Amino acid sequence: MIRCISCGEEYDDDEVIYTCDKCGSVLEIEPLDVDVGRDVFECRKDCLWRYKELIPVDSSMRVTLDEGGTPFVRCDKIGGELGVDLYVKVEGSNPTGSFKDRGMTVGVTKAVELGVDTVGCASTGNTSASLSAYAARAGLRCVVFLPSGKVALGKLAQAMFHGAEVISIDGNFDEALDAMTSLACERYLYLLNSINPYRLEGQKTIGYEIVQSLGWRSPDRVILPVGNAGNISAIWKGISEFYCLGFMDSKPMMTGIQAEGACPITNAFKRGSRDVVPVENPETIATAIRIGAPVSYAKAMNAIYDSDGCCESVSDEEILSAQKYLARNEGIGVEPASAASIAGLIKLRNEGLIDKGEEIVCVVTGHLLKDPNTAIDSCSKPKEVSSNIDDLKKLLVK
Ligand SMILES: *Cc1c(COP(=O)(O)O)cnc(C)c1O
Ligand SMILES: [Zn+2]
Repeated sequence: MIRCISCGEEYDDDEVIYTCDKCGSVLEIEPLDVDVGRDVFECRKDCLWRYKELIPVDSSMRVTLDEGGTPFVRCDKIGGELGVDLYVKVEGSNPTGSFKDRGMTVGVTKAVELGVDTVGCASTGNTSASLSAYAARAGLRCVVFLPSGKVALGKLAQAMFHGAEVISIDGNFDEALDAMTSLACERYLYLLNSINPYRLEGQKTIGYEIVQSLGWRSPDRVILPVGNAGNISAIWKGISEFYCLGFMDSKPMMTGIQAEGACPITNAFKRGSRDVVPVENPETIATAIRIGAPVSYAKAMNAIYDSDGCCESVSDEEILSAQKYLARNEGIGVEPASAASIAGLIKLRNEGLIDKGEEIVCVVTGHLLKDPNTAIDSCSKPKEVSSNIDDLKKLLVK
């Protein structure tokens, strides 16, 4: 069953629908009424489909690349410096290098179930990289709209190489998404942006995995970057479902981090409101969260307020410095948007809004190699010398 989060209107599972016909709000999938214990999941291989009983598509038809089951890395160096217990959930280890794969394995399986022939998305990069791979695997035609000139190199390479029809839109992501959504509503294609509630049914497994990795416990806090706000909503849904199943006895404070130049949700939170005013010309080096009008804002505000969490924003400078800090102290390479979670942790801790000793999970959403240009630009150039041993010795003198 698909249900409107605002007016409660219900829709059948086989309806192709993205927003509520009655009130225009976003939709979510009702949790399945299943009787399943923790032991069932424990004895299976560590990947997303270990939770198949809780994923509302026919798992025998699944289009999968073995996504999920990503590293859950304890980070004692950074945690020690900041005075918290820190774990990092490394979503860059998914098949195409971002958490979007969790959404796409479920979303594309739904597309196959529905019998559509074309799938599409607008994307800041990773959604298109992921969808193009899953569409190739499923044998579906794939159309992607990208904001012209604003997509990181690695992501563009993926979308093109997996055979999507890549269209460069003269406009920003929000405008590209509006155009794509209109085409989907006129049935030109099946939309796989995160307004599609099946995407979030895959992404909610990040929440499941965090709880299971901690030995069926909730951390005090989960911190993640927020762009279109699907992922924070999804993780909160996953955690809430596990809580309702009685798998643990507390829930984390959901903490969203945005870039200063694209922070409509932070602005709403700081006003104490649930109403999000779009940012007209969003700008940030973290292109994956360069979004001014987040489609899942209503779900995200619920997640933040219901969990007693918060939303903060960080500057591009703080993002780049956190990206390097994580790479050079813990060996974890992430793209700029992902580093927003670490930058946010540092800022909130310095401001005293995160308590000493909290147990914290930072979700880092995409791999360093997604955006090689930004990585290279923030380092000094390699030194150029001959292979002469004496020259090299001089260079390496301590
Ligand atoms: C998509 C994406 C985000 C933002 O996620 P939302 O669900 O849009 O809030 C953050 N980081 C990376 C690397 C992404 O690809
Ligand atoms: Zn409604």
